[in-house]
Amino acid sequence: MTSIKENILAIKKDLPENVKLIAVSKKQNNNKILEAYGEGHRRFGENYVQELVSKSQELPSDIEWHMIGHLQTNKVKYIAPFVSLIHSVDSFKLLKEINKQAGKNQKIINCLLQVHIAEEETKSGLSEKGLFELLNNPHLKELENIRILGLMGMSTFTDDQNIVSEEFNSLKGIFERAKQEFKDYNLEELSMGMSGDFKLAIEKGSTMVRVGSSIFGARS
Ligand SMILES: *Cc1c(COP(=O)(O)O)cnc(C)c1O
Repeated sequence: MTSIKENILAIKKDLPENVKLIAVSKKQNNNKILEAYGEGHRRFGENYVQELVSKSQELPSDIEWHMIGHLQTNKVKYIAPFVSLIHSVDSFKLLKEINKQAGKNQKIINCLLQVHIAEEETKSGLSEKGLFELLNNPHLKELENIRILGLMGMSTFTDDQNIVSEEFNSLKGIFERAKQEFKDYNLEELSMGMSGDFKLAIEKGSTMVRVGSSIFGARS
């Protein structure tokens, strides 16, 4: 078995310069996170608010925490003080709440809009139409404490690389159309790719890969 250190180094070695690695540490213990931290890694992603809050309190303060899981409006307040980027924003209502909590903390919170590209109904995210409606919302510009950096998407859980490839192409297309139509927003980041498909995602234009099990091993 390879170590966390070896896994991180192997992934980073092949990562293009413009692609950031988010080490997904959900359901992994603090010692494992500290092992990656000891290697100089600072970007970690979590799915659950309570777990994210505890880890942020227990672990070094220079860690850059990414919220990648589904986020309920009433829980934004717990992560607002320290979160670096929220990948999973899927409604205007949630954006409004993030803006409000960011204001209370006198900061700007970076967000990605999650787009639904997978076949599974269970995966959350906006449709392309919903995304464009949100970006066209005249009240969006009033939210001065959020910054929309780009889009996030999750592919279907399948071994069929053709399906995944098509989904990544689809998201990249949506990303390019959104960039073109909403130049004011400077959309730059495309968060796509996980352990099983991050290399393909990078080929398809990803700028942020969210890799968990390939770094830390299976989750408990
Ligand atoms: C768990 C999770 C990941 C990482 O999954 P792995 O297959 O372990 O790399 C990435 N993105 C999201 C949104 C996740 O929930």
